[in-house]
Amino acid sequence: MADNLCEYLLAPAARTPDKAAVVESDESGTLTEVSYRQLAALVDEYTRALEPLGLEVGDRVVVEAHTCATAVALLLACARLGLPFVPVSPQTPDNRLLAILRSVEPALHARADGVARRDLPWAGGTASFGRGGLTAQGTQARRTPRRRRALVVDTAYIIFTSGSTGRPKGVVMSHRAIVTFLRAVIADGLVGAADRVASTSPLQFDFALFGIGIALGSGATLVPVGREYLDSPRRMVGYLRDAGVTQVHGVPSLWRPVLRHDPELLKRLETVRSVVFAGEAFPLAELRRLQELLAGARLVNGYGATESMAASFTDVPDPLPADQRALSIGHAHSGAEMTLVDPAGRAVTRPGVVGEIHLRSPALFSGYWDDPLATAKVLVPDPLDPRHGQKVLRTGDLAYLDEHDELYFVGRADTQVQIRGNRVELGDVESVLTRLPAVASAAATVVPRGSDTVLMAGVVLDDTAAPFDEDAALAFCAEELSAYMRPRRIRPLADLPLTENGKVDRALLARLVTGAGHDGRTDIDATPRSPA
Ligand code: ADP
Repeated sequence: MADNLCEYLLAPAARTPDKAAVVESDESGTLTEVSYRQLAALVDEYTRALEPLGLEVGDRVVVEAHTCATAVALLLACARLGLPFVPVSPQTPDNRLLAILRSVEPALHARADGVARRDLPWAGGTASFGRGGLTAQGTQARRTPRRRRALVVDTAYIIFTSGSTGRPKGVVMSHRAIVTFLRAVIADGLVGAADRVASTSPLQFDFALFGIGIALGSGATLVPVGREYLDSPRRMVGYLRDAGVTQVHGVPSLWRPVLRHDPELLKRLETVRSVVFAGEAFPLAELRRLQELLAGARLVNGYGATESMAASFTDVPDPLPADQRALSIGHAHSGAEMTLVDPAGRAVTRPGVVGEIHLRSPALFSGYWDDPLATAKVLVPDPLDPRHGQKVLRTGDLAYLDEHDELYFVGRADTQVQIRGNRVELGDVESVLTRLPAVASAAATVVPRGSDTVLMAGVVLDDTAAPFDEDAALAFCAEELSAYMRPRRIRPLADLPLTENGKVDRALLARLVTGAGHDGRTDIDATPRSPA
């Protein structure tokens, strides 16, 4: 079944078995290559270990790992057997992981060798996996033939993102959707078989799956880059150079430390021919600098959401004109189309008029895991002619067209924000804050800090006589929320500021919680940067 994600991504094993599928560093930091033949053998081995467990098509497998060859092999073995995989990174806080486990009720929670064991009140089956194979514990070995065959309409994976109600939201993607997407983007020429593709996102984000899919789907080589290399510009550049990387994937803030502290280092990346960034707008001053330093490299603005993996890849003009104020998100990839729609459901075609992006595509997600109401809000009948019953993705992203029919992103229609390219629902943060003792209500907002954006929050206490312990509140958030979702500061307020129509006034909130003076300057500019 060539449209099964596993068969699609392992196709190069027949054509170029000896080529490196993955280049990664071992424990000692030495670079090692895993060929397509070796990767396929590992997938076979994991498949053989999973099969006797008697799991059914559709049974979920949570895979807790960093991006590495063995993790890729396990994801592919799951895909082959029709077992949806749910990638989580080892940095996920216990309570967040527990919420995911309780939601997807996986048949197996598989941990990569070397990832610390957690003591969670979760009684499901577990497994550990690595170069030595996969060992499962606590799963009933049923050895019954599977009831169903794995089909392309079945779920390949579920990625959990921030959910507005405080519950992580699971984006369910089918084999057909993801393989259709990868084929289209590869055919559009984003990557070639000779590329070595560096992937810098933790495994829980679809940007990591994008890197895996694009690299293996085109018969190229994947180079996962661990967090330990990303914290220091020198180590990052050294690693990319040693691994002979030709294409780098990452959120715009990946480049900030090196641009700020050691920009000349970038000139050493002679093999890098392209940079694909996605997740949020790249501040233009930084992008110009990157373009100068990586002379001749193609810079590509990837736009889209987990619900369709991505929607468009647009080359940044080289050179970026000095008077350019915004970056184009261009047109959708082959086989898909982005349309702007106004609040009355009419197409917006006049240049400069803002509308909401609606995506028509064969690569849309199936729905949110166990949440038909949330699904119905974004997988909607095409507003331009709902009679067909065809569903389109209502993205929540606002944009306008220029005179050349190019799209420009302007912001969100809701309270979803991006923190260093990671998507955060402010409601998610707020629902954690309202679980703090003595907090009656809470609101979160984003505050610009240089070219960065930080999360801040205000809380209203139910007993204002009791002093608010900000450190305890921040510690609580650290237990409940992934690092990028945690507010930098939490300030007690007499009331939440409201707009005239009674909504939280987040712009005013930002000024209140930062103590901005009349000149608009905030007192957080000296706050040290925390890792993503
Ligand atoms: P990703 O597929 O990048 O992981 P997420 O699902 O985490 O995306 O977040 C999607 C949202 O991020 C989009 O709806 C949009 O608001 C924002 N976004 C993504 N890419 C870009 C971009 N290139 N420019 C501006 N905003 C972007």
